[in-house]
Parts: sequence; C-alpha cells; structure tokens
Amino acid sequence: MKELVKITNLSKQYNQQEVLKSISFSIKEGELFSILGPNGAGKSTLISLILGLAKADRGEILFDGRKLDSDSIELKSMISVVFQNSILDPDLSVKENLFLRAYFYTNNWKEAKSLAKQKLADVQASHLLNKRYGVLSGGEKRKVDIARALLNTPTLLFLDEPTTGLDISSRADMWQLIHRLKEKYHMTVVLTTHYMEEARDSDNILMLDAGQVMAYDAPETLKQNYHCLTLEDVFLTIIEKGREHYECISL
Ligand code: ADP
Repeated sequence: MKELVKITNLSKQYNQQEVLKSISFSIKEGELFSILGPNGAGKSTLISLILGLAKADRGEILFDGRKLDSDSIELKSMISVVFQNSILDPDLSVKENLFLRAYFYTNNWKEAKSLAKQKLADVQASHLLNKRYGVLSGGEKRKVDIARALLNTPTLLFLDEPTTGLDISSRADMWQLIHRLKEKYHMTVVLTTHYMEEARDSDNILMLDAGQVMAYDAPETLKQNYHCLTLEDVFLTIIEKGREHYECISL
C-alpha cells in the first residue's frame, strides 16, 4: 500500500517544553490509523502539524510524496478534520450550517442542498436537518460535524477524539459509522483517542506518551509482542517498564 503521509523526525516545543520528540511513522492509503495516548501526550499537536495549522521545529511531513505548506491548496482540499470543538454555528440549524458550507464547494444552491442532505444521510442524521445545532446531544453534534467534514469527499479524514464524552452505546455507534464511511468513500481515516481498546479494529496504532512514540504497529502484533491480552495492558506495560523497544513479558 502507498504511503499517504510520511513523517520523519518531527519535533515541536512549546515554551521550552518538548511536546513532540523526533517522531517518525507513516500512514498508508486506505488504512484506519489510530493515534493513542493519555491527555497531554501530544496527539492534537501532532495533528495540527500534519494539517499545517502549527509549524514544526524540526522534521518533515510528506503528503502523497509532497510537502504540505500553506499554499498547497490542492493537497489541503483532499483533507478534512473534525476537532473536538465544532466549527459549526450553534445558533443556526443543521440545515443552515451544512447548506452554507456545501455552497462553498458547489457554488450552486440546489447542488449544495442535495450534497448536504446526502452527507447527513451518510451519518444517519437526516432527522436532525431542521434542528438547531446548539441543542443537539454530544453524539448528534459529532455526527453532524462528520457530515460537514465529508462535504468535500476527502481522501484523508482526521477525527480528533471522536468518541470522547459519548456514552458507551453512542461510542459503539460512532465506531460502526466510522468503519462504514471509510468503506463507502475509500478514505484513509486517522483518529486520536485515549480509549485504548477502541483502537483494536485499526490497521495500525501509534502509541504516544509525553511526546514520544512508545509503540507503532498493528493491534494484534502489539498484543503478541508484549504478551498482553488487551491494548490497555500493552500501553501500561510500556509505561511501567519505561521500555522503548519490544521486550516480552509474562502475563
Ligand atoms: P493531547 O492531544 O495528547 O492531549 P496536546 O497535543 O494537546 O496533547 O498537548 C501536549 C502538550 O503540549 C501539553 O502539555 C499541552 O499543554 C502543550 N501544548 C499544546 N498546545 C500548546 C500551545 N499552543 N501552547 C503551549 N503549550 C501547548
């Protein structure tokens, strides 16, 4: 599989704090890639750097073999992101929010309405069309945010902690939705989470802690290599032992 994103020796400091410490990994086309780590690990910073929203101190980021800089409009139009804090207007209805944004892509109201309705249906939220965005539940908002991110049919979709704050059943729903959308649109999906177990269906996992890569592999390989039954145990094993390299331990 082709490398869609290639990151080499990426470093970032904020106020003399090393938030990312020479990180290297790649994301292959079509995969579901999870970035795991506790709060403060550097996940959001990493995504901001990949999206070009902040500048790295050192290192290189290649998207489809090319550097992503501020004028890479063509490349940027292939990427969508859903941050934890929505960019939609709470005082507007779902319809108004999505139609307006769809119009940016279509320049035609009829097409904009049809595009927005199609993406809302994709996230199984057509019934929310006339509701005010601000009154929606956390799970409903997240779905509408994803519909918004799908308007430009991205090649690469970033989801920053898509399940944080959702109840167990909404989290399961969200995962099903992510898998379905990924298949339907043949997208590469990159997400961050601090719920380790949720990442078990990912193709690859990057585990971060204090700005360092603690592990990077497929979930099953990680469990085998660390002789652990769960990803949470893998992470705890790495943290407790302070190991940076694979070592087997007994359960
Ligand atoms: P995560 O997403 O894993 O919770 P973040 O990337 O948000 O972690 O944060 C990693 C560290 O970087 C934290 O200690 C945070 O306080 C710090 N940090 C993030 N953004 C900034 C910023 N703009 N200015 C100063 N410190 C920041």
